[in-house]
This record gives sequence, C-alpha cells and structure tokens, in this order.
Amino acid sequence: MLYIGSHTSYLKDKQLLGVVEESLSYGSNSFMFYTGSNRGTARFDVDPVLTEKAHSLMKEKGIDKDKCVVHAPFIINLANNSDEDKYEFYIDFLNKELKRCIELDIRSLVLHPGSFTTLDRETGIKNIANGLNKALKDLDNINLLLEYMSGKGTEVGTSIDDLASIINLLDEDIKKKVFVCLDTCHINDSGWDIKDFDKFLDEFDEKIGIDKIKCIHINDSQNGVGSHKDRHANFGYGTIGFEKLLNVVYNERLDNIPKILETPWINRNEKNEYPPYKFEIEMIRKKEFIDYINL
Ligand code: FE
Ligand code: FE
Ligand code: ZN
Repeated sequence: MLYIGSHTSYLKDKQLLGVVEESLSYGSNSFMFYTGSNRGTARFDVDPVLTEKAHSLMKEKGIDKDKCVVHAPFIINLANNSDEDKYEFYIDFLNKELKRCIELDIRSLVLHPGSFTTLDRETGIKNIANGLNKALKDLDNINLLLEYMSGKGTEVGTSIDDLASIINLLDEDIKKKVFVCLDTCHINDSGWDIKDFDKFLDEFDEKIGIDKIKCIHINDSQNGVGSHKDRHANFGYGTIGFEKLLNVVYNERLDNIPKILETPWINRNEKNEYPPYKFEIEMIRKKEFIDYINL
C-alpha cells in the first residue's frame, strides 16, 4: 500500500491536531513534523487533549500512526564530542525528544547522524553509536531512524558503510530500536544515480538489511550525482526527474514504507508562496507529471 505524506507544521496552539489537519488537506495518509524549530532546541509542552483529538481524527480518516514520523532538529550533533558539555546536552535533548514522541504516540524519530567537524570519520561514528546507546537506554517502543546523508561538509552517514558501522557499534538491546531513513536527494548527492536504486537496495540489504528501512524522503535534487550539496528540488523538477523518483515510490521492496516529501515551498518568502504537497501527492497517485508551478 502507498503511504505518502509531507513535512508539516507543528505549532503551539494546535500541535499534532494541526499536523493531521494540514496532512489531510494535501490528501496525505502519512506525515512528518518537527516538534519545534528545526534549528533550535526550544520546545513547549505536549497538550494531551490536542494529542487525543489528533489521534481520533487520524483513526476516523484512516491515517496509521505507525506510518508517521517526527524529525529531530538539525542542531543535534552526536558525531563530535570535542566539547563534552555540548555533546552531553545533545544526548540529553535527544532522549527528551524521544520521550516527547512517546507522549505524542508517534513512535519514529528521524535523526541526522551528525558531522565530525574537527575530528575524523571513524571517531565520529564511535561518538554517534555511544550517544545513541545513552539516549535510547531505558526507552521502549520507540524507533530511532538514522538518515542517509548527502555528504555535505563532514557529515557522517553518507554511505551504506557509514550507517552499517554505526549500527554495528550499538549495544545489542539498542540495535533493535535503530533503523534507517533514506532520502533520494541525499542518495543522489552522495554519489548514487537513482536509476541504480535497485542496486543500492541490494547493497543495503547485504550490509544492513532491507527490513531496517522505516521511511524514505522522496525529494528531487537541484544538483548532480555526487555533488554533496543537499539542496532539495520539487518532485520532478530536479536532476533526478519524475520517472526515476516515481520508480522509487512504487518500488515493491519498499511497499508499506512511508514516503515523505520535503520539497521546497513555491515562491518561498514571497506574498504568493504555497506548499507544493497537494500537487505532488496528486501527481504521484496519478503517476503523471503536471507542471503545476508554471500552469
Ligand atoms: Fe533530514
Ligand atoms: Fe531528508
Ligand atoms: Zn536534505
């Protein structure tokens, strides 16, 4: 079955209920949101009344909560521990964010593994595994999804091998809670042509296991294969293109895995800005490209 949704806004007055309403307006049956700023760690309390209303609306409209995800803020960096206080702060914040997901009963949290900056990749990998072992300790019924990255700067998690190395260093009881979130823009930018997506999945299956994939971000890319830029483009408007992205969405091996759009708003920061998601989801369901931006 196709589970498709997009990035949505989680705001103080409506919280998860607002996320569900926004998703329904796009024709989604899945969604993703940040529990506050994607660049900061300021957070407000979860309102249980709004959470309950959101879940009953989801039930009524047929949105399966287990096909929905939360995204952790980018600011968390578990790869670099040269400032010990900062490193411990991120581990603690991640633990709190996981607890917030449990409170909201959306039990998958996507995390960027981090950037090693002044250290080296191998040390970065060790730091990430150590941080996850701590942040996930004593938490049950929660999935942490490490995102496959584009390889911008000193990012870790920019290859199947990187992710396999992190997972291999986890404690046995933590491993069961750690999964992967793919991103077509990031895979492209990391050096894989999306036309070879099945080969990518073969290698992933061999080194990590395809059952570890819990979500996929389906973005087009503004840049070419191996560019390491991480600039998302609208679905069918980038260098990957509509057909190749559609093949990923409908790949049988990823059936039942939620597909999430993180494509940019149209005319961002202008008076006539609007989200592309309703149009992109319609195109994906119809399997037909509509040039909605220039219509
Ligand atoms: Fe991400
Ligand atoms: Fe992503
Ligand atoms: Zn990205």
